[in-house]
Amino acid sequence: MENSYSPYSGFQVGAAVLTKEGSIFKGTNIENAAYSPTICAERVAIAKAVSEGHKEFAAIAVTAKNSEGEEVMASPCGVCRQVMSEFCQDDFQIFLEEKGEIKEYSLAQILPLRFVKEVL
Ligand SMILES: [Zn+2]
Repeated sequence: MENSYSPYSGFQVGAAVLTKEGSIFKGTNIENAAYSPTICAERVAIAKAVSEGHKEFAAIAVTAKNSEGEEVMASPCGVCRQVMSEFCQDDFQIFLEEKGEIKEYSLAQILPLRFVKEVL
């Protein structure tokens, strides 16, 4: 989260994805003046892992601070959920921090009726 590049929103996000082999890849949000090229911390972490040959994941943890510097829960956006869906199963664990409390969700919980490659 400390490496967040978020000069426009001030919303700092950190993510760490755990592969099934036990490797951890970290990511942070990277904003852009044109807004659309902005990429979320979750997708940075997953992209780093995939680019290093890891395509099977067990869990991801996400933490964030708003522009006031307050810790807030950052639930993955729809695009990140779909990227998780590409590489992860229904039981993929998502850990979100809210006011010092860790909450656990599954991919099936946060993305029901997901669009999957098996239908193509
Ligand atoms: Zn996202």
